[in-house]
Amino acid sequence: MTGPIIDRWYNLCAWSSILIPSGLFFFKCSGYLWENVSMWLPVLTGLLLLSTIFFLLLTSCTDPGILPRRELRVAVPGLEEEVVASVGTSCPISVDPVTSELVCELTEQQQVQGFRWCTTCMVVRPPRTSHCNDCNNCVMTFDHHCPFVANCVGQRNYGYFSAFLVSTCCLGIAMVIGLAFYVSDYTESSHGHLSFSSDPVLFVVLLAIALPTVLLLLGVLGLTVFHAWLACRGRTTKEVFGRHSPVVAGAPLRSYVRGASLVHARSRVSFPSTVV
Ligand SMILES: [Zn+2]
Ligand SMILES: [Zn+2]
Repeated sequence: MTGPIIDRWYNLCAWSSILIPSGLFFFKCSGYLWENVSMWLPVLTGLLLLSTIFFLLLTSCTDPGILPRRELRVAVPGLEEEVVASVGTSCPISVDPVTSELVCELTEQQQVQGFRWCTTCMVVRPPRTSHCNDCNNCVMTFDHHCPFVANCVGQRNYGYFSAFLVSTCCLGIAMVIGLAFYVSDYTESSHGHLSFSSDPVLFVVLLAIALPTVLLLLGVLGLTVFHAWLACRGRTTKEVFGRHSPVVAGAPLRSYVRGASLVHARSRVSFPSTVV
């Protein structure tokens, strides 16, 4: 989770939208569906809930493809070589005599190929890498920053994010089917329509399941179709909507190779380190 503190509220909203309706569904409908419809409907819904939680955790808690900042590359032995190998090029760094800032003069060929110098991270960005202002990091094959997962979505967690979307869609569809069976059986057995006046508690509970489930399903379904379209075209969200991110001629389409993480959170660092 690399997002700012405000993302915690969006993340909490995502978890609540998944766990509260599904918890009520299992509490109220699963036993009835198991006995009267099919045991496989609640079992399948349970498996889909587990996979949704699993992929949400993986999307939120894995490194999206961060390019380590210069301070980290200097502090961790061998990291600079790893970053250069991953970026695919290097650039001699010098100190600007006027501003005293570190600068890097990229060659014209490097610029045409899509390499850029990030003045915040002090790193050469390979094509399709962007600096996320929410996380304040450069992320490889940057797609977008998602506050609901409190993380960037990029090269290393895009697959998990896509699986989370598909899983959430399937969970929503399974819950809507389960609810439809439950309500139609109730209507048949009680010979009347379910309404607030006939059974207020049941009506409110089913509404608390159905309303967020349908809203979440519609939203996530739209996102899933959009990302399926992006995957077919080999583009990222940033490239489709971003004003300053033209697709570089000759740059490879979306890379599905995750690659090793360059964030060695458990590495021992030498301190103090000289940052020049
Ligand atoms: Zn950056
Ligand atoms: Zn971000």
